[in-house]
Amino acid sequence: MPLKCNSFAATQWLSGLPSATAILLGPPAVEARSSGDGRGLGLFAVRDIPAFCQILSDAPLILMKPGEDLPELYKQFNGITKDDQEVYTSLSAHDNPARDALVKDKLLQRGFDQDELEQMAKVAGIMQTNAFNVDLQDGQGSCHRALFPNVARTNHSCAPNAHVCFYPPGDQSPRGRIVIHTLRQLRRGEEVLISYFNILLPRSERQSKAQKWGFDCRCTVCDEESPEHHRFERQRKVCREFTTRQTSLTQSNTATMKSINSMLEKGQLLVAEFESCAELFPAIPDLYDGLGMLRGKALMVQKREAQRQDVILDLEKSVTWEAKITGKDSPATQRRLQKLVQFAAKRRSNATPKIDADESGDLSLVWP
Ligand SMILES: [Zn+2]
Repeated sequence: MPLKCNSFAATQWLSGLPSATAILLGPPAVEARSSGDGRGLGLFAVRDIPAFCQILSDAPLILMKPGEDLPELYKQFNGITKDDQEVYTSLSAHDNPARDALVKDKLLQRGFDQDELEQMAKVAGIMQTNAFNVDLQDGQGSCHRALFPNVARTNHSCAPNAHVCFYPPGDQSPRGRIVIHTLRQLRRGEEVLISYFNILLPRSERQSKAQKWGFDCRCTVCDEESPEHHRFERQRKVCREFTTRQTSLTQSNTATMKSINSMLEKGQLLVAEFESCAELFPAIPDLYDGLGMLRGKALMVQKREAQRQDVILDLEKSVTWEAKITGKDSPATQRRLQKLVQFAAKRRSNATPKIDADESGDLSLVWP
């Protein structure tokens, strides 16, 4: 599954011992240690950490181009330092004897040395378990496979307290990097949990995705015995339905103001509910975007110029929420900002607003 810098496309996380590839911000805010419940290592806060803080930035240990195969992977593995190789081989791989046998068979056919097969199969298994697709924004889509050693041990929850985002290559990170931001305040000793897949999916689909990663999700949302299980599932269902209906309404040629207003009302209730649930924050930028689209539709139907400002307000919220969750410079924030600028340009000059933080860290947009 591709890792994109928006909402939930992140697939899989690992976690972190500091290594040469990691860019930790000041004193490390997190450490990798045993989860103590049979789930292996996890990432834990070493001090209280406020909401919307970047807690980890990690460069890929291995980055494979589209179409590259195990021999290229093994070559890269042999090209990294011994310390990094140790970090790599300390990562877990799901037991899959059938996969290993197939890999070894293929390697033998391609003339690889019998002595190397075991190690090559292990390297392949770790990559398969821990790497994910990333979009380097080089026009090839989410086709590169990357393994981030410090993100690699972060465990999953469908009610995450942190969010992951991939930044494509730039000056500071020539091969791209992955960052984790907190969604709410973390207490010292609390485990950092991220979602490997879209948490808005229904439970059955989340479970089948989790099983592909080799585990059964037993998070609070998936626990059917939990008194709040049905509320959690309902929130996700209502959000999926809103997105579907909002999209079809904004594309419809026969939308009436009555249907638009009814959908706006539903969307506003939903966003208010999501704004009080940290684990659902990553869905909020898209919700505000959806509200903006609906108000844009109302503008087309009624042609009341005052409605344009309402669209701008929703798109601004979409930008500031995305900036909180993925960072002010993330590709997702920049994309949302561009959308806002394009819309606002119809009334103002082609100015781009600045994302400003006040003393408490709250973000707002300042137009020039
Ligand atoms: Zn779950």
